[in-house]
Amino acid sequence: MGRYIGPVCRLCRREGVKLYLKGAKCYTDKCPVVRRPYPPGQHGQNRKKLTEYGIQLREKQKLRRFYGVMERQFRRYFEQAARKKGVTGEVLLQTLERRLDNVVYRLGLAASRREARQIVRHGHIEVNGRKVDIPSFLVKPGDVVAVRENSREHPRIKENLEAGGAHTVPAWLSFEPEAMRGTVLRLPTRDEIDAPVQEHLIVELYSR
Ligand code: SF4
Repeated sequence: MGRYIGPVCRLCRREGVKLYLKGAKCYTDKCPVVRRPYPPGQHGQNRKKLTEYGIQLREKQKLRRFYGVMERQFRRYFEQAARKKGVTGEVLLQTLERRLDNVVYRLGLAASRREARQIVRHGHIEVNGRKVDIPSFLVKPGDVVAVRENSREHPRIKENLEAGGAHTVPAWLSFEPEAMRGTVLRLPTRDEIDAPVQEHLIVELYSR
């Protein structure tokens, strides 16, 4: 699956919230969302009132960008969530959280989901003892996600662990820093997912 390779701070400015796509810079006052809190582009400061569709669309784009997922794959996640039991929006968020790149980020092995994606892609991660280099791999309760033996000295991973991560490991995961290993204890609940969206608007958008 593809990934967005353009300027990322622009995405946060478009959505009007921090999506934490850059890592350390996101936590400083250099963050463009703080410096220039209006949409990017020549007409960014001439804000028009959004239509109902516009509001739903922005919410969907925000969530997609938060997790770094392209439209086609996002749509597939939605369709799978709609078929499952439970509240569709919540199941969708749970699916996004279960992505391996997200789990690597949540464990503090990467400073951003983008970096986590690269760490996975470059073969530094294993799941249940086997190398997995697919960022969209979905973990399930009981899975053990670890840094592979030969990658334990990886400078960026070590740096991220030493920095302690700007976030704490959520309660649905457990982490052993010395072993560079985490376990998925259960699926996250909605209040454990900090995605800044109202997911019912996304469900409404796709139900049009
Ligand atoms: Fe850029 Fe991070 Fe600020 Fe987003 S939150 S605008 S990625 S620095």
